[in-house]
Amino acid sequence: MHKLIRRLIATGIVTIPRSVPERFAQDAYESSRALLRQLGRALAVRHVDAGSCNGCELEIHAVNNPYYNLEGLGIHFVASPRHADILMVTGPVSRHMVPALLMTYEALADPKRVLALGDCAMGRGIFHANYATVGRVDAVIPVDITIAGCPPPPAAIIEAFLALIGTSALA
Ligand code: SF4
Repeated sequence: MHKLIRRLIATGIVTIPRSVPERFAQDAYESSRALLRQLGRALAVRHVDAGSCNGCELEIHAVNNPYYNLEGLGIHFVASPRHADILMVTGPVSRHMVPALLMTYEALADPKRVLALGDCAMGRGIFHANYATVGRVDAVIPVDITIAGCPPPPAAIIEAFLALIGTSALA
């Protein structure tokens, strides 16, 4: 046992240093307090993949891991648009997804807020309007917030949420 402890002390920490901006951790307290002031609870997000290549989804998964810890900021994903404050849409909107996207938008409680995540959702990605896709989210439903990138990195997604919480847009 002593031999193992001596070896652990001699080896030290060998994991990769934390690269997430420390201010996310510092902002967690402030953002949760701002959410409590504005909503009185956590911020609920419903995500719809409207024809993404799944690159954007990988980054969304990343913000939910323990490393980026989006829930630690008081933001969580929900399974129904009826429980959501914000609808997050990825992809250039395949034509087959138009009815589902419209139904999801209708199911959102007022005030309806839509976040288009990724270049494709904003109409500036590699998938443009064609026989299979509409080309952008705001051609189907109104968009309030955008996060650019192909795909946007987790830090950019968190920054956008923090900026949203920092405004009175949720009130
Ligand atoms: S923005 Fe990039 S990563 Fe996201 S769906 Fe389009 S091609 Fe894929």
